[in-house]
Amino acid sequence: MKVLVLDRDGVINEDSPDYIKSVEEWQPIPGSIEAIARASKAGYTIAVASNQSGLARGLFDLDALTEIHDRMIEAVEDAGGRIDIITWCPHHPDEDCECRKPRIGLLMRIEQELGVSLAGQWFVGDSARDLEAARAAGMIPVLVRTGNGSKIENDIDRREVRVFDDLAGAVEELLKNA
Ligand SMILES: [Mg+2]
Ligand SMILES: [Zn+2]
Repeated sequence: MKVLVLDRDGVINEDSPDYIKSVEEWQPIPGSIEAIARASKAGYTIAVASNQSGLARGLFDLDALTEIHDRMIEAVEDAGGRIDIITWCPHHPDEDCECRKPRIGLLMRIEQELGVSLAGQWFVGDSARDLEAARAAGMIPVLVRTGNGSKIENDIDRREVRVFDDLAGAVEELLKNA
């Protein structure tokens, strides 16, 4: 089973320092939806692993998050693909939970629910904690320059992390080797 794991904010949609609190604020990064659909149609199972501490901070509720995810799912379906599983951490960083990235709880949940190992699969993120979680789960860490990515690009070991301009670029490379 081929699985592509994605961070959400800064990878699929534009990020904001004020959090993405409503479906109105959820704006896909150009090309990202089509890229997900392309990977999906090429046989990849698509999984999303997202820190959403805005829930614990009271900035939005589960209904708003569900609405955002429904919109995201629908956009990918309209493009001819599908998102198979969306996982998120609802906790505040102070809660010291097992699911907030860089910890691997979300990745383990994906493995359990899909019944697969994520070892050797790509995890595309825009933050150091995505890359760290990827490594800890034995995945291939991939950085995109969208979102927070361009800011941390110079701090990472390029021999270890693959870097692309955006999700569309990452998926293009992924499918070359598929
Ligand atoms: Mg992000
Ligand atoms: Zn958590």
